Order: sequence, then structure tokens, then C-alpha cells
Amino acid sequence: MSREKLAGVLPRAALDTGVALEQIRPVCEDVRDRGAAAVREYTARFDGADLPSSRVPARVLAEARAGLDPRLRAALEEMARRVRPVHEAQRPAGHVTSIGGGARVTERYVPVDRAGVYVPGGLVPLPSSVIMNVIPAQVAGVRQIAVTSPPRPDSGGMPAPAILAACALLGIDEVHAVGGAQAVAMFAYGTADCAPVDVVTGPGNAYVTAAKRLLVGTVGVDAEAGPTEIAIIADHTADPRFLAADLVAQAEHGPLAACLLITTDPGLAERTEAELRPQVASARHRHTVLAALAGQSACVLVDDTEAALAVSDAWAPEHLEIQADDADRLAARVRNAGAVFVGPYAPVSLGDYLAGSNHVLPTGGTARHTAGLSVLTFLRGIHVVECSAAALAVAAPHIDALGAAEDLAAHVAAVRIRVPHGAGLGEQAAPWNPQRWPRGTTPRNPPVTQGPAPSSPGLGRVGPAPSSADTGTRRRPWDGPPIRPDLAGRSPYGAPQLDVPVRLNTNENPYPPPAALVRQITDAVAGVAGSLNRYPDRDAMALRAELAAYLGHGLTPRQVWAANGSNEIIQQLLQVFGGPGRAALGFEPSYAMHPLIARATGTRWISGARDADFGLDTGRTVRAVREHRPDLVFLTSPNNPTGTALPLAVIEAVCGAAPGMVVVDEAYAEFAREGSGTALALLPRFPRLVVTRTMSKAFALAGARVGYLAADPAVIDALLLVRLPYHLSAQTQATARAALAHAGTLLATVADLRAERDGLVGWLRGRGLAAADSDANFVLFGEFGDSHAVWQGLLDRGVLVREVGPPGWLRVSIGTPAEMAAFRAALTEVLGTYMAAGDGE
Ligand code: PMP
Repeated sequence: MSREKLAGVLPRAALDTGVALEQIRPVCEDVRDRGAAAVREYTARFDGADLPSSRVPARVLAEARAGLDPRLRAALEEMARRVRPVHEAQRPAGHVTSIGGGARVTERYVPVDRAGVYVPGGLVPLPSSVIMNVIPAQVAGVRQIAVTSPPRPDSGGMPAPAILAACALLGIDEVHAVGGAQAVAMFAYGTADCAPVDVVTGPGNAYVTAAKRLLVGTVGVDAEAGPTEIAIIADHTADPRFLAADLVAQAEHGPLAACLLITTDPGLAERTEAELRPQVASARHRHTVLAALAGQSACVLVDDTEAALAVSDAWAPEHLEIQADDADRLAARVRNAGAVFVGPYAPVSLGDYLAGSNHVLPTGGTARHTAGLSVLTFLRGIHVVECSAAALAVAAPHIDALGAAEDLAAHVAAVRIRVPHGAGLGEQAAPWNPQRWPRGTTPRNPPVTQGPAPSSPGLGRVGPAPSSADTGTRRRPWDGPPIRPDLAGRSPYGAPQLDVPVRLNTNENPYPPPAALVRQITDAVAGVAGSLNRYPDRDAMALRAELAAYLGHGLTPRQVWAANGSNEIIQQLLQVFGGPGRAALGFEPSYAMHPLIARATGTRWISGARDADFGLDTGRTVRAVREHRPDLVFLTSPNNPTGTALPLAVIEAVCGAAPGMVVVDEAYAEFAREGSGTALALLPRFPRLVVTRTMSKAFALAGARVGYLAADPAVIDALLLVRLPYHLSAQTQATARAALAHAGTLLATVADLRAERDGLVGWLRGRGLAAADSDANFVLFGEFGDSHAVWQGLLDRGVLVREVGPPGWLRVSIGTPAEMAAFRAALTEVLGTYMAAGDGE
């Protein structure tokens, strides 16, 4: 049987929106013409509540939240916790497509500005609808989300408290007490109480559906919600009790619900019918269930699962359960369904509430062309077209032909005014210029500060193309490799590595390893050299045991992990706990690699701000964490570049509030002044806390690249999923262990560096400069009107410091006493000329 014929014989309730459409047309027109006054009258007439404003007062929302049954609250929170990541994973990445010769099209996904969510009041309030509609909008990045729900006589003329509470839990503060067609019209046209929205979503009764159909165009709408439906494909392996229960569960939604059992096993059909009898009889809504099952519901017997799939695809159900052998393989072949539930333990009821999937799904066979509610409902893809003169010249002859065929001469002229015939550009391709400096002269360390770089990588540069005589071969136009759009045009990390006498710009330890350690490292590396044909210990167990012993705090080797520098540790953390659709929050100014590595792993970076004194106020920080609900929070303590250590109370409060991982970057822990605690002490209480450390600073081992972390063993197990096999070389492990054996001597230099640092802070302040209190091996100082001139002045005198941090500030790493003397002398001179030039303060 053809798909059309099959679909024709399968049952489904017919919905006639036509009558409702004629009834709601005057209502919508009235709301368009008279706004809030019309909404007020219809609300009084249809819902029996005369409300001076449609907006639900903040107090009522707060009361609903406070009065919410704790069990329902926990369930809604768990539902939100599951729904959010599923929808975050839906957020599409943009694309850049190179067309060649300097032309490209970028697709950017942009959220609508304002969305309106309709939540039916009905007989039973559905707070789950709030979660299913609001979270995709939030994840899409919609800035304003308004919810509306009809007022109820039993709720003092306000929407159901459970709906209000669900809104409050999600941080929605704009809720309207309006239902029916007037609510959709209010969203579409706007009233004095409610600004118009760009998209309306949410299920509703026939009037709501009709209003959406009428107003689509004035406002964007999601799919029309019709009566709910389920198809179950089942074979002899299915449990008839489960099947009957799922059919009854679907049928209790309403008398028009449709239930289809498609089975290869006649015996199963009988067993299910036998199970249905007692289950229907004891159903709470048995009359509704009976009406639905006796109405547009059926059992379809098929020869095999192949035929079962064909029947289901023809019907295109809202929900499809597959309870059959090889259910997952069958699920992969489904073509038309709103959502598919695989195997005996994934019932539709799970999907209605807690699967994490969205329960707003296409009904009435529209699953053939429409998907369920998603992040995409609230996003638009925008094509951004860029083209160089050369690329336009290449396209021009085709535009000539197309414009002529369609008699659109002005189209042709708009191109030819730019690239006239015979202008000589046609065959040339703009060379790709990966950075702003000329090709071939790319410096080893690009003179850039970290962070977003100039946007376009050299598009539009038109120059003579290399001739075939230059290269000996004919070159194809080359727009550069097809890199990810979010990386296009970015600059790499690049602290200048210049060969100058005094290098105080990368927070290295100025003291080289002592001779005894150099010998021990040499011996240790020689010891492993003879077995380099073998991979190293993949889990670096010996090193981890020694690091655990060094850290103390009762840590075991299973709680410690090591990698190539703490940068790699941070990368692994972001790979596991961040990634596309996830977000990380940091408080800036801070270590620039946190956002850079986040971006490289596709993690959205949320930039929080530090206080004016570079510290973090507990309340404000916790509020930021609660507001953004990031998957990771980065706290750097002591912070780079400001040197600020965080009180443990702040870290503790963040750990208490954060929904995801909290990473405390303690790269400079050993330099902290007495009394500053370490987050290691909090590990036993917070299993999602990670403390990262490095051997690059206090251990004077930057060249060996050893970073490490302490965390719950489960966190380390998770990191194993992303680390490259054998990531830490045998030489690195041997070197690190040798250095740990000399911890005492190495850490002795730390005390000298701290004293030098404190002396420098005093000296800078004595010169009238600002110097941030520092718990690290560097000092941030300023503030200069032209800090670059000061940086250059120091460099001219052989002293390299770092241009980093807030505008007007510079960072100097603590060097040896001789290096610091050179720094002070150079700065004194620079300040002399700088002040003399009248550029001070
Ligand atoms: N965290 C912070 C705060 C840092 O300043 C640095 C290096 N400057 C690192 C991590 C990375 O250090 P490494 O990769 O050398 O361990």
C-alpha cells in the first residue's frame, strides 16, 4: 500500500480550526485596535477576572515560588537540569563557506529579541510546559521572554500558582494573566502592558491554535498543537503490561488522543488487550481513556518490523515507542516521528517530564515536515556575504547572463559599476593573508595582545596574483584552509619572546635549577632514554603519588592528575566539562588562556568582572554564578595579572552555588602571603571542585611543562576520556619527579621572590605609582595614560615587561635582585622622560 493510502486508513481525530478561526477573528482585531482595554474585557468575559493590568505582580510570583510544594520544586528543578543540556547541544554552530577567490558566506544564528510563551491553564495546570518552552528560548539567547497563562477563579484571578512558581524558578519575571486568543493577539500586536513579541510558542486550546494561525506573519509561531498521539511498534519481546500502560497514559490526555499499536505478533495484540481491560478500569480518567481508545485508536497487525516501520512512517506519529528486538537499530531508520522512545524503559511519560528531550512535538501527521520545539524555534540563520573585487569580477559574467535572462538590467549594472568589463580583475584571486603582517615576514611572536583580533583575515585585498612563471605551476585560488568560523580571524596566544637582557614578562622563576638538580634530571632522563622504544606509563602513577605527597591535605594519587603544563590541564577540563553548547564563567581581568582555551574547545565564555580593587565580592560573584548557571566557573587565586588571592569564603560560596564544575587555578599558590588558604582544603566537601597547580613557577620548571590538579577521582576518570594516550612523555615524568625530590631547595627561592615582590610594591608606591597587592611572583603597576610608551621605554632599556591587564597598567614578573635593580633603574629613567613629556598620571 502506498504511503498516502496507508495514512488514509489509519485513525486520527479531525480538527476543524475553521469555526474557531471565525470566532476569534473579531477578538484579535479588537486587541489590535484597543490594546490593553480589549484584553481586560475579554479576560473578564471569558475567564471571570477583571484585572487592571495583565501583568502578574512580582509579589504574586514570589509568593507562588515560596509556596511551591518542595517535592514539585525538586522535580521541576531536576527537569530543568536535564532539559537545559539537551537544548544547549542543539545550538547550531555558524558556518563559513569559502566560495573561492576571496568570496565567502558566513551563516550566523541570531536569537529573536523577544519571545512570548503561552501556557494553558486548563483543568490541570501544566508547569512542565513552562520548562519545555522557556528553556529552549533561554538557551537560544532570547533577551526578553514573557509568559502568559489564563487566570483561574481558584487562584484569586491569577494563573495557577504552580505555573507562576515554575516561571519564577527559571528567572522569568514577566508573566501575564491572559489566556485564549486574546493572549496570542496581545503578544502579536502588543498592548500598554505587554510589548509585542517576535515569536509565540506553547500549546493551547482550539482558540489559541486558531489565533496562531490567524496571526502568523504578524508574529512567528511554533507548530500548531493538535490532539496528542502515540504509535508503538512492538514484537514478541514486548511486555504487554508496559504496552497497555503506555496506551492508557496517552489516552488520558483527552478523548481525541490517538493510540496505535503496530505489532508483528497477533498473540501480543491479544495479550495487550487483556492487560488493557483492568488498567482502563482502574484508570483515574477512565472515561477519557475509554473514549480515546474506542475512538481514533487501533491495533495494526503487520508481517514484519519492516512493514511496522512503513505504517508508522506513513502515520508520522507525535510519539513513537519501539519495544522490539533491536529497537535501537529500528529507531535509527525512523523517518517521520516527533520523538522516538527506544526499548522497554523509555516510555513517553519519561519524555513528557524527565528525559531531557522536548515534549512539544508535531501532531496530526505534521512530523512529516516539522520538528518539535527547539532552540531553532527562537533562532534565525543570517547569511553574511563578503566578496573581494576579484571574486566579484569572477562572478560578474554569470550575473550578466542571469540578469539578462530575467530582464533585470539594473542588477547587472549594480555589479558592472564595480567591476567593469575588461577591468583585468576577473582572473585574479586575492591571496589569503592569514594575519595582518605581510606574508613571509610573520614574526615568531606576533605583536598582539591576547583576545579577539581584527575580524576579517585579509578578504578584499586585491593585488597581482603570483604568475605561473613565478611558481612554475598554475595556482588555484586559495582562501586559506576551511577553519571553524568561531576561530576565523582570531590571533594566537603570543607573549613576545624577545632576546633582551632582563626578561620579566612571563612570570617565570628567574632562578635556574641548581646544579644538583640538573645532575639528577640528567640522570633520570638518561635512565628512561634506553627504553624510549616503549610508551611511558600512561597514567603517570609514580609522579601522581609524589605530587599527592607534595600537596598534602590527605590527597591520594587517585585524586591527582598531571599533564603538559596546567594549560593542558585546563584544556582537558574544558574538553570534558565544557564544549559546544556549554558555557564557562570567569572574572576578568584574569588569566587570558581561560577564555582562549574555552573558545578553542567550543565552550561559550562568559566574562564576569572583578571589583575595582581586583577582588571578588562574595554576593556579587554568587549572583553571577546563579544568573549564568555556567558549566564551569574559573577562579584564579592568586590571580594573574592582578596578583590578588581570593579569601576561601568566596571560593566556598561559589562551590555552594555553582551548578557545574568550579576550577580554582592556583598556579601561583606557593607565592601567596601567609594566611592565604588553599582551595585544596575544600576538596573533601565539594566533589565538583578542581584545584589546578603548576611546576612552572615555584618549581622553576616552566621548560619541562608539568601542570597538575587535585580533584575527586571521578573527575580524573572523566579526564581520561579526552586526554591523548601517553600524553606525558617519559622524560617529562622523570624530570618532574627529579624536581619533586628537590622541592625543599627549589621552594627556598620562593621566599626570596616574595620578599623581592613586597619590596617592589613598596618601591613603586613610593614613586607615586599604583601597585596592586600581590600574592604571586609578579606585580601589576600603573596607571599610565600611555602604558605602551612606558613598556616601550623599558624595552629600549633592555627590560621586557608585559602589556596585560586593565588599560593603563603593566605587569612585571619578579626577577633576581640584579634584574629588579635593572628594572627599577630603567623605570626611574622612563618615568623621568614620561613625566617630562607631560603624559603622567
Ligand atoms: N594558570 C595561570 C593563572 C597562569 O598564569 C599560567 C601561566 N602563566 C598557567 C595557568 C599555565 O601555566 P603552565 O601551563 O606553564 O603550567
